[in-house]
Amino acid sequence: MQIEERLKELKDKINEKVPNGIVVNQVEFEGPELVIYTEDPKRFADEADLIRILARDLRKRIVVRPTILEDPEKAAIEIKTVVPENAGITDIFFDPDTGEVLIEAEKPGVVIGKNGITLREITKHIGWTPKVVRTPPIESSTVKQIRQYMRHVSEERKQFLRTIGRRIHRDIPSRGDSKDASKKDQWLRVTTLGCCREVGRAAFLLSTPDSRVLIDCGEKPDNAGGTPYLYVPEIHPLAQLDAVVLTHAHLDHCALIPLLYKYGYEGPVYATPPTRDLSAMLQLDYLDVIHKEDRKVPYSSNEVKTYIRHSIPLNYGSVTDIAPDIKLTFHNAGHILGSAIAHFHVGDGMYNIAFTGDFNYSKSRLFNPAINQFPRLETLFMESTYGGANDIQPARSDAEAKLYETINTVLSRGGKVIIPAFAVGRSQEVMLALEEGIRLGKIPQVKIYLDGMIREATAIHTTYPEYLNNELRNQIFREGMNPFLAECFQQVDSQVLREKVIAGDPCVIITTSGMLNGGPVMEYLLNLAADERNALVFVGYQADGTQGRRIQKGWREVPMGRKGTITINLQIDTIDGFSGHSDRRQLMSYVSHLQPRPEKIFCVHGDENNTIDLASSIYKRNHIQTFSPMNLETYRMV
Ligand SMILES: [Zn+2]
Repeated sequence: MQIEERLKELKDKINEKVPNGIVVNQVEFEGPELVIYTEDPKRFADEADLIRILARDLRKRIVVRPTILEDPEKAAIEIKTVVPENAGITDIFFDPDTGEVLIEAEKPGVVIGKNGITLREITKHIGWTPKVVRTPPIESSTVKQIRQYMRHVSEERKQFLRTIGRRIHRDIPSRGDSKDASKKDQWLRVTTLGCCREVGRAAFLLSTPDSRVLIDCGEKPDNAGGTPYLYVPEIHPLAQLDAVVLTHAHLDHCALIPLLYKYGYEGPVYATPPTRDLSAMLQLDYLDVIHKEDRKVPYSSNEVKTYIRHSIPLNYGSVTDIAPDIKLTFHNAGHILGSAIAHFHVGDGMYNIAFTGDFNYSKSRLFNPAINQFPRLETLFMESTYGGANDIQPARSDAEAKLYETINTVLSRGGKVIIPAFAVGRSQEVMLALEEGIRLGKIPQVKIYLDGMIREATAIHTTYPEYLNNELRNQIFREGMNPFLAECFQQVDSQVLREKVIAGDPCVIITTSGMLNGGPVMEYLLNLAADERNALVFVGYQADGTQGRRIQKGWREVPMGRKGTITINLQIDTIDGFSGHSDRRQLMSYVSHLQPRPEKIFCVHGDENNTIDLASSIYKRNHIQTFSPMNLETYRMV
């Protein structure tokens, strides 16, 4: 059936279901949504359950937009009349191209109202479709710029969403039913393009006879600029890929997504809203770091913009058509802000496959544990960073006690503590532990300097509190209790201040990059490594080939490129237990608690020994078929 016919059929079905007199003028696919244009948006809003019923019956995500729009100035006044004042509206933006009004408020829940009642009230009064976003309690320049940019390109984006919508709902040849011999034409394959028997450069290609989806596209964090195997014929031409799905914002998963646009990809990237914002921030920082090191920059900030323009944000739990035969649902992975396990429902119930990305199966200061229940699941691709038999992480409380002890020792002998950390995730965990340590008197009132993108990443965390666990969310919104705004923290935002910190009093410095492959941490190391009173404390995983791994292994003379060689005299400590990853016990426990039990598990994203060991242990204990694939292999699922 042609797309126009299908839209007409959908329009007829909708007309059958809406009460008499409501006029449906047009229906259109826009991205993964079905948009109903009507001159009666107010009456649509009157029927509280109508959109929900249509969504259920048509199995589509439904959006209603008005065909005729009220004057924005008048509409703004009406919004302020309808919404209670304590919502704290900070901005109202009307987009005539989509018929949407974006309301930015300190308390989005108040603008929405119980069961969406206030939102419906707004629609009834003004016709425009309201969308509500939170005003960040700590202003993030990334979030601000992305919101402004999206307004700026709204016309182009509407066209893009229509093109993608039609592509998602295009006709595919019938593959027959189970009685039919043509069933053998149905298949599902996964090709491994990176992060197999290694950590970093995550990339997988999921393909069916009718569609292809790329999951993650990261770099290898070893200074060699390792990229996934993007030149294999399976993923070309890139222009014909249906979708890119991003599990989370760490560079070993997202760094090379903008490169795809440079090489001809034109489709969408699906990610949670925080992943979209954090990944753009980290990609721009990544370009900056490479530039400063005189390495070859793989793409420019223009391609980061192109990526943002093509992003389609999805929240956890929202089942979304991304190709004619593939539905995607994101679930909490507990690893960093917005991190997701990507679950794919392929064919009409033919097969279910999930990719964990990086995940944490224990509760942290920031997040709830990763989700282990799925409606259906035949195959799981799971990370194995700490998959080795001896990769047991201490409890979080023990790790914090050890960190306090190290800080006390170093400060009392007049030294400084350098903590290299990923800007996203580990930094915030350590910040929360230190803030509490100072508040409860477990460590002295010491200045904690944040250098690199940490402050900006923290601001993005406070923009999306619904992605944090309940305790932290409540703290952030209680007056004067936001731990991220505590007095002990100070951002280092200039070279002058950096030099002052280096020359100044004993202190704690949390800085990027987490594996010492570039970033401001290198300057602190260069200046502070010779003094044995100081300490370098690793709180995160150090991948093979990074400076961090070398120093951790005991190198005492470390080559630093043009800057010569540095001699390491300072104390080197590794404090495990702050990791955003599951350790060996949690990985095994996760598999045992999976519902339903999958038929196959692929252990990926871990050193060679770890993935092999984890795969064989899962097989022995759970009697599930396991694999420890290598890069560039293709597996047929069905
Ligand atoms: Zn990660």
